[in-house]
Amino acid sequence: MRVELLRGTPEPEELVCRCARGDYSNQWVGSDRPFEAVMDSVEGETIDEKKETLLEHLFRSGHFGPFEHPTATFAVEGVSRSCMAQLTRHRHASFDVQSLRYTEVTGDPRELFCFPPSLSDQEIVSREGVSEVSLSADEREALAEELYESSIEAYERLIDAGVPKEDARMVLPLGTMVNLTFTMNARSLMHLLDMRLKGDAQWEVRELSNGVLDECKEWMPRTFERYEDNHPNKLTP
Ligand SMILES: Cc1cc2nc3c(=O)[nH]c(=O)nc-3n(C[C@H](O)[C@H](O)[C@H](O)COP(=O)(O)OP(=O)(O)OC[C@H]3O[C@@H](n4cnc5c(N)ncnc54)[C@H](O)[C@@H]3O)c2cc1C
Repeated sequence: MRVELLRGTPEPEELVCRCARGDYSNQWVGSDRPFEAVMDSVEGETIDEKKETLLEHLFRSGHFGPFEHPTATFAVEGVSRSCMAQLTRHRHASFDVQSLRYTEVTGDPRELFCFPPSLSDQEIVSREGVSEVSLSADEREALAEELYESSIEAYERLIDAGVPKEDARMVLPLGTMVNLTFTMNARSLMHLLDMRLKGDAQWEVRELSNGVLDECKEWMPRTFERYEDNHPNKLTP
């Protein structure tokens, strides 16, 4: 799996602060007013300290609206269709998903399909605790490989027989890998992380969320480092 911040609003925390200052003062917060002037009455010696003060105030008072202004677009490579379904449940996001009407699933099954750690781990620890598993790791992996290989064989035979790709894809399993891009604002990203970093979320969407969090910490360090320190942080009812 690969997660990359493709594009983010520039100076996102300055934008949050400008918008929030517009709530608390009757002064113009447009770009022709220097940021130092916008932040003038905020406590702190330096502009960085003032930003820190204001962002902390927003977090503490649950004033999350200003975090809706900066948006980020992520490129994601190699997640299962199952993980994609979990991600796309989040309604405050825009998605582009690799289409199996226009692209074909072809190549090494090891690359094309998801092999969860519970297929190869000696001891399986899930949210229900340690599982008793009657198949060895080799047997579990072989079973998944066999199923994946037979599904890709059926898929290829259907396409060769003239069935459109969009119909042939129906025989592919949930573990089929997909690439996608998505865009969310910072507030929605924090909500996504609230839901999907939780211990009872599935390992794959947690891995994806950890990738998103790492990228967000580069993009909005004060916001997402603070978020991480206080996680989980309930943002919405
Ligand atoms: C561990 C786990 C297990 C899950 N299991 C299942 C399952 O078995 N079956 C299943 O179907 N889903 C399941 N989900 C998905 C879950 O129910 C949510 O659909 C998903 O996490 C999206 O989050 P959200 O509802 O907070 O909405 P988002 O779309 O991320 O929206 C963010 C917030 O906006 C508000 N909001 C958005 N739309 C509305 C609306 N129409 N009305 C009112 N408020 C709204 C809510 O406050 C919401 O929390 C699971 C999620 C997790 C994390």
